[in-house]
Amino acid sequence: MGLDAQVIIVGGGPVGMGLAVELAQRGVSSVLLERHFEPQPIPKGQNLTQRSMEHFRAWGVEEAIRKASPIPVSFGIGGLTAYRTLLSPYHYDWYQRAIVRPFYVCDNERLPQYETEAALRARAAELPQIETFFGWTAQSITQNDSGVQVEALSRDGERRIWRAHYLVGCDGARSLIREEAGITQTRSDHDIRMVLLVFHSGDLNKLIAHYKGKSFFNVLHPELDGYWRFFGRVDTGEKWFFHAPVPAGTTQENFDFHAYLESVVGAPFECSFDHIGFWDLRIAVADDYRKGRIFIAGDAAHSHPPYGGYGINTGLEDIRNLGWKLAAQLQGWAGAKLLASYSAERQPVFVSTARDFIQSFIDSDRAFLRAHDPQKDAADFERAWAGRAAQVGEEIRSFEPNYEGSPLVFGPAAATCSAVGEHEFAARAGHHLAPQPLSTGRGVFDELGPGFTLLSLDGDDASVADFEQQAKAMHIPLKVIRDHATGERQAYAARLVLIRPDDFVAFAGDGPVNAKDILARATGA
Ligand SMILES: Cc1cc2nc3c(=O)[nH]c(=O)nc-3n(C[C@H](O)[C@H](O)[C@H](O)COP(=O)(O)OP(=O)(O)OC[C@H]3O[C@@H](n4cnc5c(N)ncnc54)[C@H](O)[C@@H]3O)c2cc1C
Repeated sequence: MGLDAQVIIVGGGPVGMGLAVELAQRGVSSVLLERHFEPQPIPKGQNLTQRSMEHFRAWGVEEAIRKASPIPVSFGIGGLTAYRTLLSPYHYDWYQRAIVRPFYVCDNERLPQYETEAALRARAAELPQIETFFGWTAQSITQNDSGVQVEALSRDGERRIWRAHYLVGCDGARSLIREEAGITQTRSDHDIRMVLLVFHSGDLNKLIAHYKGKSFFNVLHPELDGYWRFFGRVDTGEKWFFHAPVPAGTTQENFDFHAYLESVVGAPFECSFDHIGFWDLRIAVADDYRKGRIFIAGDAAHSHPPYGGYGINTGLEDIRNLGWKLAAQLQGWAGAKLLASYSAERQPVFVSTARDFIQSFIDSDRAFLRAHDPQKDAADFERAWAGRAAQVGEEIRSFEPNYEGSPLVFGPAAATCSAVGEHEFAARAGHHLAPQPLSTGRGVFDELGPGFTLLSLDGDDASVADFEQQAKAMHIPLKVIRDHATGERQAYAARLVLIRPDDFVAFAGDGPVNAKDILARATGA
């Protein structure tokens, strides 16, 4: 039986659409099935990190994404934390991503996920390797030693089967693909019902006009015990979203959402609701991101409350990691363990994201709110509040997902893959490469090849030649950049840096080296 494509992607949210583009740019054909005809108009997934913007740059959509943003960077896309009410005198600036800007090529951005999806759909339409089927819902899947099969149902009741070598489920938190593949999850339920409100209000803008340059607001309240009441701008005008815990059993009909919003803001204001939805707060992570020829990515693999904006950003990094590995496998230059390394690298990074950031935010806010109360001891509260404000960059600085413990990289002994790291300019195995200018004036990221790249900064000729010969013999795409270990490039602190197709460093050292061993390990042999 013939194949419809090399890869089937189920789910055309940001992660599925991004994967289709990533694969197509690597020459891999895909069929993408998405149950909705249009992106859903819920303004989620808004905070895009500098790293996510690097993916969009690589996929040729950075400009389109920036143009689609309803909040100009000049307006300000940072955050603010307040105590008890939004208008409280106790507040500080929060989540200022500019702190880590020098370690990435791109500025961060803020726009609703439906705009991001629209930009990715437009890019996908330009690439002949991608066939999209909007309005089709996957119903069942099977796999055997040679391939996968997906059966889907169209909106008008037509059934159809697609076949491919591999299947990637990018079908969100309630993933059918994860369930059908029999991939188990580890869940921590918080037994909290959350509401998502999308509303219009001109008054709210006026009330917070003194909070210049802020686009999202987190209100901590003792009665919430560490959970957040969170406002986000959707544009610079009147459109907002809000999420927060609500009592169990809350429905659209039995709760006064307007009064709730006014209590969180701390003042009366007019608003009209566009959307009221609910979900249960939990953190869930798949125990493996792969079962045979089936992979899962994005919310299908990990879901959690949107605390810290790790959802879409983590999902995009998943597919940047998986894309080149699938291409290598299909093009014949993957080692036997390359596909397994996707889960080995990405799953522990999310486990760490959940534990060391998302859960840790809830725990530390809870501990703070239980220990300090301005009505009982104002001086103590103000000291502790100032201490929190001073620590505010820590979560940005220390969120540095890395694969130090990956079987593919020459990391330190006993290292693990983790979301916790340090942003550094030194090239370190398992870490994202920081950008630097080359002596031509162009940036390193402007010169990276589509496959592996060897950056030789006065590296020894024999090692460089060895890399070139071995890569050729192993059919590994390798571009060599030759430059000098002078100027800003000295910060890399290595003469030979092997960079993976996803911009992570596979090896950094001074040589002489055994290129065959390094390339074999980097490609999962
Ligand atoms: C209020 C809110 C705010 C958020 N803010 C942020 C933020 O600031 N930063 C951040 O990083 N993340 C944020 N997130 C999380 C982010 O929105 C998600 O992580 C993101 O949507 C994950 O993308 P995805 O493509 O994996 O899944 P989804 O966006 O859920 O896409 C899955 C797609 O699969 C389709 N699908 C499902 N089942 C099938 C099927 N059987 N057949 C065909 N198609 C199917 C669905 O229609 C959907 O289009 C927020 C979430 C919420 C709710």
